[in-house]
Amino acid sequence: MDRGLGIDLGGTNVRAAVVDRSTGALMAVQREPLVDRSPEAVTAVTVGVVRAAAKAAGTDPSALGRVGCGVAGQCLGDTGTVINAPNLGWRDVPFGPMLAKALGGAVRMVNDLSAAAWGELQFGAARGASDVALVFVGSGVGCGLILGGQLHQGAGGIAGELGHTKVQTESGGVAPRRCGCGELGCLEAYLGGVALAGRVREELGRGAVSSIRDRVEGGLGRVGAAAVEAAYVQGDTYAVALWEELGELLGMAIANLITLLNPARVVLGGGVLSGCPSLVEIATRWVQSATSRSALAQVTLVPSRLGDDAGVIGAAILPGR
Ligand SMILES: [Zn+2]
Repeated sequence: MDRGLGIDLGGTNVRAAVVDRSTGALMAVQREPLVDRSPEAVTAVTVGVVRAAAKAAGTDPSALGRVGCGVAGQCLGDTGTVINAPNLGWRDVPFGPMLAKALGGAVRMVNDLSAAAWGELQFGAARGASDVALVFVGSGVGCGLILGGQLHQGAGGIAGELGHTKVQTESGGVAPRRCGCGELGCLEAYLGGVALAGRVREELGRGAVSSIRDRVEGGLGRVGAAAVEAAYVQGDTYAVALWEELGELLGMAIANLITLLNPARVVLGGGVLSGCPSLVEIATRWVQSATSRSALAQVTLVPSRLGDDAGVIGAAILPGR
């Protein structure tokens, strides 16, 4: 059997899986939360989950060849350097070389959504298409691109940063929100689950009226996209206005992506999108009205099929060196 080892390094945990490269099936998966996010500690935890996953699959990491690793951040693919990973608090961390040294073997690093897009292309919702945009909204907003059947990473490996495209400028009359990347007015600063929860807490704390307050047990600290979705369904005025605003932002971003790239499929996933059908419905209406007619006629919007496993599967089967 042809097996590969994939790693998915997020902001809160790291997963490693041994994957059957011919079917995409998970042979063994291990996950560990990240308590200490220093590069050294994350390297040690990652090596631990890699060894545990290999052991659970009855093998050794050295027998599985090059390891693929998707990281929630901007990644210089050729060097394995993580330029900016807000959720890990990393800037210019040579994680690829650190991990390769600790594992004693080759590592290929890509953005986590690039890995997920590759996974969906080979074994998931993008199968059979050669031009695909994957849009995931979870704690952040990410995008992976397949163009002409190839993973598109740009000149330095940082293409597809849809979450950091700007949707609000300082001249707009409304102060743009600051993103975790440090810049102002990014899409992620509005739509990402972490930013969204922060904004709802802030607005309810300032006295905004909404049933969301009664929906979250344990106080506003636990508010999230799911509570807004539930309030929206009940017609809560605050939630309706928020979803209309964010659905438009998401829909316009996807519409522009489709007009620009002419994909055959847009795969939607991540915790916020899979848990908030009303938000997706509003965004889809905007996609239908704002996408160039000719590009719209050739694209289908589909939900992710591999879900949380897309990144780890894609990482295990990455092409190239
Ligand atoms: Zn940003």
